[in-house]
Amino acid sequence: MNLTAKVLVGMGLGMFVGLTFNLADMNTAGGFINEYLVDGLFHIVGTLFINSLKMLVVPLVLFSLICGVCGIGDIKLLGRIGTKSFALYMLTTAVAIATAIAIAASLGIGKGMEIPTDAVFSAKEAPPLSQVLIDIIPTNPIQAMASGEMLSIIFFAMLVGISILLVGKKAKGLVETVELMNEVMMKMVGIIMSLAPYAVFCLLAKAMANLGMDLLFALGWYVSVVIGALLFHLLITLQGTLMIFSGLSPIKFLKKMRNAQVFAFSTSSSNATIPVTLRTVTDRLGVNNSVASFTVPFGATINMDGTAIMQGVATVFIANVYGVDLGISGYLTVILMSVLASVGTAGVPGVGLIMLSMVFSQVGLPMEGIGLILGVDRILDMMRTSVNVTGDAVVSVIVSKSEGKFNEDIFNDPDAGLIDESETQIDVNDEKELAEAVTSTANS
Ligand code: ASP
Repeated sequence: MNLTAKVLVGMGLGMFVGLTFNLADMNTAGGFINEYLVDGLFHIVGTLFINSLKMLVVPLVLFSLICGVCGIGDIKLLGRIGTKSFALYMLTTAVAIATAIAIAASLGIGKGMEIPTDAVFSAKEAPPLSQVLIDIIPTNPIQAMASGEMLSIIFFAMLVGISILLVGKKAKGLVETVELMNEVMMKMVGIIMSLAPYAVFCLLAKAMANLGMDLLFALGWYVSVVIGALLFHLLITLQGTLMIFSGLSPIKFLKKMRNAQVFAFSTSSSNATIPVTLRTVTDRLGVNNSVASFTVPFGATINMDGTAIMQGVATVFIANVYGVDLGISGYLTVILMSVLASVGTAGVPGVGLIMLSMVFSQVGLPMEGIGLILGVDRILDMMRTSVNVTGDAVVSVIVSKSEGKFNEDIFNDPDAGLIDESETQIDVNDEKELAEAVTSTANS
């Protein structure tokens, strides 16, 4: 069985076990299953896995982006990649939320509904856009890396790459070292991915065991419309965009994206999925690292199609429940706000609700409305994160193809970049050679 199949089995089994615990009421607080399995083993293994992915994000983005810029060697091309990907990210997000609003409004969801709730949502403040722009240039790059400020890291890494290019021939050794570091980081991604089947099992078993079934049924309408709009965007809008702009087969694309989608689904975080998305996009889909090293972390931060869809549906739903008529101008403000909000917020779990509160305060919808959908947001977060990551990959493919930085043979080869046992096996000859080289350097 290849890794993707194993991960899918882990996902299916995890869902089955979690749902069984949930439906059979076995996950009661203080009970054995809750203490030792759901909040014990599953929680520990799942969190260790997410931590190990997060551990790779900053060094991977740094090294791969420096390599990427050096690989492009042309600052104008860099500018074009930046402009194209930014425009496509904003455009797909705007289309996503407009579609969601249109679907939800035409179905009139939430009209005449009364939803009892005691869940209270207290919004964390998201930084204003002006601050986001100012923070792109870090005053201290080490601090930016320590706190995972993605836009600042991207800026710093690109500047290092450009400066290396300006230093020229003398910096050859440095470029080789950074390239090797990038290769080492990619190996680490492979090692961690090969553990995914077990981790995905634990993450899903825990998530499903904690699912609020009553709420899921009470809000069935809302949940189904969000899922429907997500599927529409994933299968029609994104694949249509891929076909129109790149002429590539959506079926091949979707098949190769499965791993990254499952990772996004299980971690609910585009940021934590960056290592997997980057590896998928370069090794499986054929995007050159010089493009992917920029578009993937950039997309994980500013592109959130799935999140925008949830915001569109939630706005219509809550406006209807509270009997507020937003009108065309209200909805246009919602679209604009949600696109802008996606730029300033990182792809981490639950950030969609913070963005929603920014949208609500702009159009004057009651903040307590968010409390209504809080209980089902966890599961929708998993689904929308998969769509977010797919959007990042679609744009990466389109931009790289348009710049002639795309390897179609890799895209067409179903086995390209598959992770197998060789990933975690040390080549004995290589090891010997390396040991000899180290000893001879030490002796001299
Ligand atoms: N979890 C999402 C992501 O990481 C963001 C959100 O919708 O809350 O992309």
